[in-house]
Amino acid sequence: MAYDLKVLEEGCKAYKIALSEVQKEQFIRYYELLVEWNKVMNLTGITEFQEVLTKHFLDSLSIVKAVDMTKLHTCIDVGTGAGFPGIPLKIAFPHLQITLLDSLKKRLNFLDTVIEELKLEGICTVHGRAEDGARKAEHREQYDLSVSRAVSRLASLCELCMPYVKEGGYFISYKSGKAQEELTEASKAIFVLGGKLDKTEAFQLFGTDMERTLVVVEKKKKTPKQYPRKAGTPAKEPIL
Ligand code: SAM
Repeated sequence: MAYDLKVLEEGCKAYKIALSEVQKEQFIRYYELLVEWNKVMNLTGITEFQEVLTKHFLDSLSIVKAVDMTKLHTCIDVGTGAGFPGIPLKIAFPHLQITLLDSLKKRLNFLDTVIEELKLEGICTVHGRAEDGARKAEHREQYDLSVSRAVSRLASLCELCMPYVKEGGYFISYKSGKAQEELTEASKAIFVLGGKLDKTEAFQLFGTDMERTLVVVEKKKKTPKQYPRKAGTPAKEPIL
């Protein structure tokens, strides 16, 4: 089947990302697997090709507006679901070592198939709660970058994501246009967990009328040992 990749190509051009033919084929195959598996499990509400290109693929890649991906090497996607933003980041920036973490095993089975079919290397899936993973030495403070989209409000999300980040690294959250209220609410959590707000980048998503705000937190010092608290607590009792 012939796919119209124009919007993806234009978006990548705007983001200064050069896609090879192999990378374009990987995006197409990822789309095909997404819609195929979506028939038997809940992966995404967005299945129309052009919408997947803009609202999933280009949205994931829009992180380049906030950070220079070529300078980062290790990345964890917390609550990756169907692989956003982790898989598009891996396709576009193959040098990245990516960990895709989620508590739903079925979604990780899908992602393992995507990894195999797209022949991606330097990427793995990890099954479990973010709160538990961050207590393990192989993950705690091991990543240059922790990313997360559509998982929870920022105050609790910081507790799930920031323990994974090395000192000097970044936690970047993909938020809707109205991030300011969440940011104000999360200011104590950011500080307590060892971070400092670096910046926010607000823009309209390429090819859509959707607003996106990227919240960039720099890890300034180690996260105190008592965080994250036990699974479920960050959501129930966020640090406020
Ligand atoms: N990031 C993807 C996206 O933007 O399409 C998925 C978003 S989906 C709404 C939220 C995902 O986060 C789900 O797959 C869920 O299983 C996962 N999740 C929520 N809380 C989690 C936790 N504490 N630890 C690990 N995964 C979690």
